[in-house]
Parts: sequence; C-alpha cells; structure tokens
Amino acid sequence: MERFTGQGASPGIAVGPAAELADEGQAAVKKHVDDIDAEEKRFWEAQSIAAAQIEKIRDKALKSAGEHEAGIFDAHRMLLMDEAFTREILDTVRREAVNAEYAAALACDKFSTVFSRMDDEYMRERAADVRDVAGRLIKVLGCGGEEQNIPEVPSIIIADDLSPSQTIQLERKNVLAFVTRRGSSNSHTAILARTMGIPAVVDAGVPAGAGGRMAVVDGSRGSIVLDPDEETLEKAKRLKQAAEDRRRELSEYKSLPAVTRSGKKIRVMANIGSLSDIDAAIQNGAEGIGLFRSEFLYLEGRTCPSEEEQFLAYREAARRMDGKKVIIRTMDIGADKQADYLEMDREENPALGCRAVRISLTREDIFRTQLRALYRASAYGNIAVMVPMIISVWEVKRVREIMGEVRKELEKEDIPFRNMELGIMVETPAAALTADDLAAESDFFSIGTNDLTQYTLALDRQNAKLERFYDPYHPAVMRLLKMTCDAAHKAGIWVGICGELAADVKMTEKLIGMGIDEMSAASGMILEIKKAICESR
Ligand code: PEP
Ligand code: MG
Repeated sequence: MERFTGQGASPGIAVGPAAELADEGQAAVKKHVDDIDAEEKRFWEAQSIAAAQIEKIRDKALKSAGEHEAGIFDAHRMLLMDEAFTREILDTVRREAVNAEYAAALACDKFSTVFSRMDDEYMRERAADVRDVAGRLIKVLGCGGEEQNIPEVPSIIIADDLSPSQTIQLERKNVLAFVTRRGSSNSHTAILARTMGIPAVVDAGVPAGAGGRMAVVDGSRGSIVLDPDEETLEKAKRLKQAAEDRRRELSEYKSLPAVTRSGKKIRVMANIGSLSDIDAAIQNGAEGIGLFRSEFLYLEGRTCPSEEEQFLAYREAARRMDGKKVIIRTMDIGADKQADYLEMDREENPALGCRAVRISLTREDIFRTQLRALYRASAYGNIAVMVPMIISVWEVKRVREIMGEVRKELEKEDIPFRNMELGIMVETPAAALTADDLAAESDFFSIGTNDLTQYTLALDRQNAKLERFYDPYHPAVMRLLKMTCDAAHKAGIWVGICGELAADVKMTEKLIGMGIDEMSAASGMILEIKKAICESR
C-alpha cells in the first residue's frame, strides 16, 4: 500500500482500478536518433497499430452512431496510410536523423496548414483530421500502442494533466475520479469535475506506473492510496456512507425555497457544462440553470458545432428545465479552453488574450450561429443569454446590435423566437469598476469570481504553485463584489454569483449581506447552499 497527497479539487470518494492517460503534448519533442533504420521500423509498427486502433473505433462508431460517423474514421485511416504523408515523415527522419514523433508533428503542421488554407470549407475542415491522425500516431509512438484515452471499465483516471477538452470527451460512466500530477483546483478541469460530481485530486504526487493498480481517492482531503489494505477500503466505505447520509439529511431543502431568517429570497441555480449535468441539477432542486458553459459544446467535437446541433442542445436544456430560467453563457473559448479547429494564433498570455467575447466579436460568423441557435431554442422555454469577459460598454452594445440583427433575420424566415434577457459576467476588474455604466446596458449581472480573483490579484488561476496566493476573500475582490452589487441595484437589475465562491458556504451570509440575489454552483452543492441561506440573517 502506498499513500500520496495532492490538492483536493472535487469532493467525494472513489474506489477502483487506476488508468493512466498519456500527456497529449509531450511525445513530439525533437530527439536525435543514431539508428535510422530502427527508427523507420518503429514508425511502420506504430502506423499499423494506429490503423488497427482506428478500425476498432470505426466499428464502435458504426454500432453506436451509424454509417456517417463511422465514415469519419475511414477517412482517418486513409490519411494515416496516405503515401505523401508517410513519405514526408520518413524523409524527415532520414534527412535530419530525428525521432519519428517529431517528424510526424512536422508533417502534421505542413499538411494541416495546406488544408486550412483551401477555399473549400469541407477541405478546410480536413485540417482537424490531419491533427487528429498525427496526434494518434505520435501517441502510439510514445507509448507502444496502448490505447490511452478510452478506459473501457469504470476507472480512476490518472494523468500528468487533463485539458478541459480531453476531460469532456471521456466517457463519463467510465470515470470514477480524476487524479492529475499538475493542475490547480481553480482550473476548468477541476471545475468540470465538480460540475459532473466526480471526485478529483490535482497537483498529486502519484508516480508513473500507477495504471492497473487498485486505488482509493478522497477528493475532499486530496489523498490517493494505491493498493489499499482492508482497513483503508473499510474507511472509504464509511466515508461514502457518511456523504450519502449527509445528502439524505439535506434532502428536505430540495423543495424548499431558500429564504434567509430575515425573509430575503435568494435563487439557487445550477452550473452545468453539458446536457448530462441537468439530471443532477433537477435532482438537487435547482431553481434553474444559472450558468450553462456552452463552450464545452465546442470542445466536444473536431469542428464548430453547427446551428442545428446547438439549437437541439439549448432546446433540450430549456425543455428539461420546464419553464425555469436557463442562462446560457455564449462560448468562453480561449485560455485553457482551446478548440484547435478555430486555429487561433499562439499567444504569449492566453488568459489575457483573444478569449470569450473577444472571439465572438472578432469571428462574428461563429457568434451569429450561436445566437441563431439560442433564439430558435428560446421559443421552447425560458432562456437568457450571458456574455463572458466583458470589459467595456461598447461590447455589450455591439452584442445587443448583433442580437437585433439575428432577430430580424429569423423574423424574415418566419422562425419563432422569444425575446431573451441579455446579462453580462462581471469577471474583470474593469467590469466591476464600471458596473454602473454596464448596468445601464445589461438586464442582469452574474459575477464570475474565479476570473475576477485571477485578474484582480494578477494571479494565474491555472498555476498550482500559486494556490496559497489565490485568495477569493481578498479585500480587493470583496470591494469589487460590493461595488457590483450596489451598481446593479441602483440600476434596478439583479446580480448573482456563478463563480466558485457561490459554493463556499462560509461566505453565504456575507454575500447575501452585500446584496447578492442569486447563487449558482455545481449541483452537488445546491442543498448545502440552500441550508446556509436558510440559516443566514
Ligand atoms: C468565473 O470566472 O468565475 C466563471 C464562472 O467562469 P469560468 O470559471 O468558466 O471562467
Ligand atoms: Mg470566467
């Protein structure tokens, strides 16, 4: 038995086999090779393993999704075996005496660039296929062909790090817990784990080779035990039972409104990342969805979700919430949430880069598609729109203008829709400091305390080494919260919190005292928040 510690990032206990995932970006580092023939042989072997993997996925797709989806993998196999692609890799290996991983990465860059510059949209989209295929080949070269990313039985996922897009693509029923050696508890991967109700430990000192061993993970205490003894297993069982008892104890709050002792009603809503989180929201008595992180729809696939795909997702959310408010945040891509197919420029400081509303207002076609889908879905329930990373009044005005244009388009096409409220996320110091101006243009505010803390304290929320400095209670953050609440109420609009601070029940009373009208958090925290509200003055 071995014990390791890390940072608890999502509460809960998990017991099961560990499965190690390869780090996506590590394998393609340039290395000199002396034996070129051996390197060529290694390439040929990897190519045939990758081809067999693709065939296996193709068969699975055929059964679960149909001919069309399976066809994607036929195209992947053709690309992998393509003569020009193969020659490009092997020529680089010979000419530069380098490893096949590096040569494959170079070939990938070259071929995907050629595709992405083509006029035809279909051909442009093939750039993502090239990256996918090359990524698989590089992974096989790096790990000898074990299928890394798809645990076939419920497992505790162990990885150096997990990007939000990797996380969202894992089959949920096979994920018992996440353990990462890097990562911080404020990252989107940790937030996703909390949203999904999956225990997680980040910044964990777990050694390589843990895959296949039995493990116990405690996401509250940040501990991992490999090859647990009977006593540890027994303790895990007791802790699981205690969590269940606590849930039962709190169940009385499910149907109760959250009202303070002095009679103030606070709405308690759920944060979701995908439709599969809605069941938990309903089961925990959410009064609506306070934050639907729509960007995860963009991270699930290899291309931008179409208007129809988005419409179906938003309509489903609206329908399932049955008239309760569903606040859908327009896509907050950028920083740690990258979608390769958008082919954004590489940035020195991605958290300060082209993200969220900045992409929406730069790539208007993508934004208009999202707004059309949202308006079409609005006819089926109670949807509101919320825009992330706002810093200036002109941005809100421009968003409103585009929304007006989209409404006109739909009217012309005789497509039904309802008017939707437009709210903004207050998650930059600029937004909080000019909240009075922004309130005049917005129907509501929702404070994103995760980014507000990051940008106010000039502190990267992704950096595990800075966790002790990451302080959402910092007086500077508190003052910005208060200013935002006052400005909202002065303008007669409501203000909520959808950052992680909403789930911090030590803060509930203080936040209510500042004037917060709504709290939105991971579903697993809703009952605790309701209880804390009912006990507040
Ligand atoms: C926030 O910044 O607080 C927020 C809710 O948005 P995200 O965590 O998705 O950046
Ligand atoms: Mg944010």
